[in-house]
Amino acid sequence: MADRPPAPPDALTCAQRSEPIRALYVHVPFCRNICGYCDFYKIPLRGDLAEATVDALLLELDRAAACWPLALRSVFFGGGTPTELPPELLGRLAAACAAFRDRGKGDSVAAVRTRDPGVRESQRAASIEGANRPPTPPWEGGGLKLGPSAPSPLRTSAPSPLNPSAPSRLHPFPPSCLRAFVPSCLDEWEFTVEANPATITDENAGLLRAAGVNRVSMGAQSFAPAELRFLDRTHRPEQVTESVRLCRRHGFEVVNLDLIFGVPGQTVDSWRASLQAAVDLGVDHLSCYALTYEEGTTLHRRLRTGRVLQVENEHEAELYEVTMDDLAAAGFEQYEISNFARPGFECRHNLVYWHNEPHLAIGPSACGYIDGLRYRNVPDVRQYVEAIRAGRWPRASEERLDAAHRARETAMLALRLTGGLDRAAFESRFGIEPTAFFREAIERSVSDGLVDVTRDAIRLTRAGRLVGDNVMAAFLR
Ligand code: SF4
Repeated sequence: MADRPPAPPDALTCAQRSEPIRALYVHVPFCRNICGYCDFYKIPLRGDLAEATVDALLLELDRAAACWPLALRSVFFGGGTPTELPPELLGRLAAACAAFRDRGKGDSVAAVRTRDPGVRESQRAASIEGANRPPTPPWEGGGLKLGPSAPSPLRTSAPSPLNPSAPSRLHPFPPSCLRAFVPSCLDEWEFTVEANPATITDENAGLLRAAGVNRVSMGAQSFAPAELRFLDRTHRPEQVTESVRLCRRHGFEVVNLDLIFGVPGQTVDSWRASLQAAVDLGVDHLSCYALTYEEGTTLHRRLRTGRVLQVENEHEAELYEVTMDDLAAAGFEQYEISNFARPGFECRHNLVYWHNEPHLAIGPSACGYIDGLRYRNVPDVRQYVEAIRAGRWPRASEERLDAAHRARETAMLALRLTGGLDRAAFESRFGIEPTAFFREAIERSVSDGLVDVTRDAIRLTRAGRLVGDNVMAAFLR
């Protein structure tokens, strides 16, 4: 191992940052079984690769901490399946990340339960206030105001800012942390670990709790055995139930389940049964994604060769509408296109991405964003370990976004949130009123009934959520 940390990827960035980094993503690329629809970087766990990878992750974390101040309020272990790691390694990794916790803030996710459920934003004035003002971005005429920012290509089983998937609907609840870009949502500590139902044991659950993990996100996907088989999932529905109970026994404060709709053969009834089963388990958060056919996946090949028939758009839209209605009736609030939570249980880490805030990401294929520099690590675990051992940063790519690009991506990401794009926050961050900057996209979307503009915010309407990708794409141009 090299004993001296390499130079940071961008020395200027490193030197300039005075605000600590609050959010950390850790990619653990191992899975017991590979699902045909999955396009995240993952490999089956073999030999001594787990230990070498965890050693490299710890080294990358130390190097990053030597470059940038870390005062973490959220950590997210994704993958892959982090709980595939041998318990001792998983516990060591979790404890090392938790050591960078900012202890000056609220102690746990539970603290948010007492929060004011939210001042409802006024639904005033559907007119586009300021639309006649010429859109003169400050970066084109001096007076540039640059806030922290940038997108993060994440996972589709978690939000994916650069790969937005399903549509969604407007629900006028916005809790305070959703109303502005300022990440007040990170006042409390949140440490999430993704898991597959069959991989949570008393041993690893105990180690994770001891290390400060308070949120488990589980890939349930469906409660219908035939749908699980189609998705190449190896767990049985009963194992989801057992794992949720195990998490509760160990005291995890928040449990999320991922579910997938639009699976060929899935009926409205079978989807509603899965939603109901998840609700009945008493989980706090549900992420509901439409099945996508990503290029390079086995599922995409099956589609191309006619071995799989994609569901009709109308059927998928119906399933999505059922999701919104049934979960609202069950007491869940939709706070993002694909995400539903009991009040106060929104995923704070993912809000960092949707608010386009800086975050550190480590591990093979991990995508991070610090002070306008977006990077992606090599999506190959052996190359990743080699680079770290050789004292290099394991970057596959780096991109510095200009202010206009950041403004557009910030708007696109904010539109995913039920609270929408906060006009005042955007203006204070980028120095231009968004209705002026996005005048064309807004005018078209408003006249199509897809976007609603109030005095405070720009939001997708329910109809807009059904074609959310198209609407958001217009804000990117
Ligand atoms: S969907 Fe999850 S469990 Fe399946 S291969 Fe992808 S990361 Fe692994």
